[in-house]
Amino acid sequence: MMQQEQIAAHIAEVRARIAHAAERAGRDPAEVTLVAVSKTQPIELVQMAYRAGISDFGENRVQEALPKIDALHPAGLRWHLIGHLQSNKAGKASREFDCIHSIDSLHLARVLNRNRLEHIQIQNTSVHLDRLPVLLQVNVTGEESKEGVAVAEAPLLARQVAALPSLEIQGLMTIAPLVEDPEEARPAFRALRELRERLRDELPECSWRHLSMGMTGDYQVAIEEGATIVRIGRAIFGERANKQKTTLPVS
Ligand SMILES: *Cc1c(COP(=O)(O)O)cnc(C)c1O
Repeated sequence: MMQQEQIAAHIAEVRARIAHAAERAGRDPAEVTLVAVSKTQPIELVQMAYRAGISDFGENRVQEALPKIDALHPAGLRWHLIGHLQSNKAGKASREFDCIHSIDSLHLARVLNRNRLEHIQIQNTSVHLDRLPVLLQVNVTGEESKEGVAVAEAPLLARQVAALPSLEIQGLMTIAPLVEDPEEARPAFRALRELRERLRDELPECSWRHLSMGMTGDYQVAIEEGATIVRIGRAIFGERANKQKTTLPVS
């Protein structure tokens, strides 16, 4: 089992690479949030990463995440849902996660919105205090196996989701093609950034501040192209024991 010091050293290494990539692009490294992707990892390792300074964790399955969230939810810690979300899990997801990266249909957004609203009404006397931050997942390369809304359909989905009162669009997310040379992922990251510029013009009332893009194999290129959230699993926790797919929904 991996030890506390190893995890801390991995995190320090990733943070140094994030800083270098940001500097190369003339960006402030503080603009980039590191989300530690803890899918398949036991809660002990998640706790070690937390002790090593991680404040954002990413999971891609609701069922797997719930016991971890239950075990670790100190103030200031944020849980991100980065995997495909089925609408029958949207109720739990809308309560337990701090940000959902995988909105790719109006149906899903509506179900989340309705569930979040009920949650807000139970928790607070005033509505609108507590909108759920969401990102639209975009399939920029058009690969058939991929989740995400097509680039051409993103503006319409963005307008529809922006109209839902309990969700707050904060930006876009994509998964680049799995390639050997990270340079080959650059056009996908650039395409997401360009789409963000377009949406900023069309829907200036949304913040569009986040670009969630970049994983262990390609995050430095993603940062050069404007990533504000990188989702990193293996570079922190090591190779996953069971090869959970990153590009397909897991049933
Ligand atoms: C697993 C996963 C990651 C992390 O991948 P690593 O290669 O382990 O860094 C990032 N994003 C999504 C959507 C994933 O499913």
